Amino acid sequence: MEGNERHEGKQKILAVLYKAGEYAKNKQFLACAENGLGLREWLEKLGHEYIVTDDKDGPDSELEKQLPTIDILITTPFHPAYMTRERIQKAKKLKLIITAGVGSDHIDLHAAAEKGMTVAEIAGSNVTSVAEDEIMRILILIRNFIPGYMQIIHDEWNVAAVAYKAYDLERKTVGTLGAGRIGQEMMKRLQSWNCNLLYYGRHQNENIEKFGATFEKDLDTFLSKCDVVSINVPLTDKTRHMIGKEQLAKMKKGAYLINNARAEIVNREAIVEALESGQLNGYGGDVWYPQPPPKDHPWRHMPNHAMTPHLSGTTLDAQARYAAGTKKILECWFDGKPLPEEDYIVREGELAPQYQ
Ligand code: NAD
Repeated sequence: MEGNERHEGKQKILAVLYKAGEYAKNKQFLACAENGLGLREWLEKLGHEYIVTDDKDGPDSELEKQLPTIDILITTPFHPAYMTRERIQKAKKLKLIITAGVGSDHIDLHAAAEKGMTVAEIAGSNVTSVAEDEIMRILILIRNFIPGYMQIIHDEWNVAAVAYKAYDLERKTVGTLGAGRIGQEMMKRLQSWNCNLLYYGRHQNENIEKFGATFEKDLDTFLSKCDVVSINVPLTDKTRHMIGKEQLAKMKKGAYLINNARAEIVNREAIVEALESGQLNGYGGDVWYPQPPPKDHPWRHMPNHAMTPHLSGTTLDAQARYAAGTKKILECWFDGKPLPEEDYIVREGELAPQYQ
């Protein structure tokens, strides 16, 4: 494939990042609005205009004001600037959207493709961070850690109230729904834990099988065999609501579900019901819809959850990797070189296969 056209002259670049206040004093903390992914000095030296804002929602937001005149937009899944079809139409000059991180579903990819835009993310930049976090959440749930922790905070001591439903992970069947980078990193880490490892994916995949994971081609059978399921697929037209009431009913009674992928892959109410009925023994993850979730979002108060804000993929190590990856994409773009192949989600109007 040929390179892109050179993007010469002054470019107007908008980054939408959350504000960190006093935490921004840590200069390793690149992914906040104050530190702007560490790109300001470099971009301004090249003569470009670099605007960073956290103000992304509603018609009077800074994002809406800047949309008609920006050439490049940088967003992150942690503080998603929802790029709807309407916003994409409004952004007359916008040619490149970079997701600093992995997961570009906050962008209407079909609308971006129709306008001939390029959308790129930093493939692989935070997969280690997410895989580690998923194993942490599995252990927190299966060992019934949170009630024990809460006892200490509330000056209590009741071993029985935790132990009656705490298990080892050893000898359990752990499955990944999706056998891409995160699914593989998770299986790689679990291969020495003496678990039975399964995966469900679009295709059989030798990269994950080398860690001892066995392919299950039927989703219902996969779900029925697992004690723990971890969701590791992107949110696409095909994966939206892939796990609803019917699929949860196929799971073993008392199984655990981990979702650091995207909230809309599961049905929100069906998760609450499954936890309340005991069909699920626990649900853990860091992804919500919308983000941030409203105060009355039912996942805040459902039983047996291990939920946090969206943070698994934004450790300081991950930030260093996706800030460097963002810079690399910009360098290629300015020079008219192709972007790293694996980073393309929409390539000048063409959607990557898993999003088609
Ligand atoms: P990846 O592209 O390496 O892997 C995705 C896998 O899903 C691929 O193997 C693909 O074949 C499979 N897949 C796609 N559609 C499918 C379908 N319909 N049925 C079955 N399998 C399907 O991506 P990754 O790096 O492993 O990341 C996966 C997702 O995790 C991202 O898209 C993102 O949404 C999410 N993520 C979350 C965080 C976080 O901080 N919580 C960070 C990184 C990524």
